[in-house]
Amino acid sequence: LSTSDENGAAGMSSSKQTSRNISRSQVLGVIRAERSISRSKLASMVPMSRATVSGIVAEMMEVGIIEEVGEGVSTGGRPPIKLRYNPESRMAVGAVLFDDQIQTALTDMEGNLLNYLEIPIAGGTPSSMLSTMHEAVECILEGIPRDHVLGVGIGAPGIVDFETGVIELSVSRGWLEGGIEVKSPLASGLQLPVYVANRSRVAALGEFQVGIGRDVSNLIYLFLGRGIVAGVIIDGHLYIGPGSSAGEIGHVSVDPDGPLCDCGNHGCLEVFATEVAILAEARALARENAGSLLHHAVDGRLERLTIDHVIEAANRSDPSALGVLADAGTKVGFAVSVLIDLFNPEMVIIGGPLGTNAGNLLLEPIRREAQLRTLSRPFMDTQIVTGILGSKAIAIGAAVLAINHTPIEVILGK
Ligand SMILES: [Zn+2]
Repeated sequence: LSTSDENGAAGMSSSKQTSRNISRSQVLGVIRAERSISRSKLASMVPMSRATVSGIVAEMMEVGIIEEVGEGVSTGGRPPIKLRYNPESRMAVGAVLFDDQIQTALTDMEGNLLNYLEIPIAGGTPSSMLSTMHEAVECILEGIPRDHVLGVGIGAPGIVDFETGVIELSVSRGWLEGGIEVKSPLASGLQLPVYVANRSRVAALGEFQVGIGRDVSNLIYLFLGRGIVAGVIIDGHLYIGPGSSAGEIGHVSVDPDGPLCDCGNHGCLEVFATEVAILAEARALARENAGSLLHHAVDGRLERLTIDHVIEAANRSDPSALGVLADAGTKVGFAVSVLIDLFNPEMVIIGGPLGTNAGNLLLEPIRREAQLRTLSRPFMDTQIVTGILGSKAIAIGAAVLAINHTPIEVILGK
């Protein structure tokens, strides 16, 4: 949750208001971590007076974020009273734009999934996309009081400006120029705060908050699919950079003399390890080897080959399919070694549709290559694992984006 303070309350100076919000965040931070805590223990864990703590506790009880419960064994007399955190008292929505559908997730204040919906997009224009997104959010919020909703996080493809909420470039949808404004039309239509970021990066927040990364503070989520992007989480915060483009590892050269990439550079990681690149390589190999399972899977009609066929053939030990995935994994492992040396993360999560579905077929060559090329100490600090949330990581992560950016005073209605 954010501690930003742009709207000082009447009668309180801005700096006083800011320090009050910092105190509120500290109190909430302790209660979130402890789940249930006595008033005296809470007061001992935050650097402020008991009076301040009890004022903040009263504010939080008023809006239902915490409640009093009698807990523990009574030794005669009254049972001890504790403060209990109610993460389900507030909710957030994540909505993600895909080619043909909007995926939405409703979560509690901790990112726990409460509901999930997929709604097809009718029509291929930006305005049909926006109206479906609006409809999808209304649909998942049906019956929920608007003042219980912190906000809506949007995950969009391409380069997305976080501040303005404009999709500036979306190659996959063919919307190449001009930019599509997402944030302000949705915010005014839904009457809720809206936050927009690149969908591959917000997936990092999903795995970080409730997935395989929930016990670490520093991780890198590598999204492998039609593109390759890294979501970088440093000390619990998603780092997107001033131009919202941090983590474009897919356009780092892993072979300076390699084939030309769409971006104009040579030998980018994406030339070797996206779904499209792997499929092209698999088709080429299958053409030379009619005995391959890749050939059998589609009765020789190689144009019908999909990435799922390649993964299935590799799982059945087909040498061509195994080789293609191992080569791609090796290139990804090289990029992972750079990320490990740069960021010293506790965890690198291999995700996105390709990373999730290929599992160990990619994980093993990635680990092998990363170990070869990384300094030994940071490599030992880093677990390299496959994500556990699958594609839901994105919608959940988009909801977490909204939660993380909601100022504490907004939650408390101050
Ligand atoms: Zn490139």
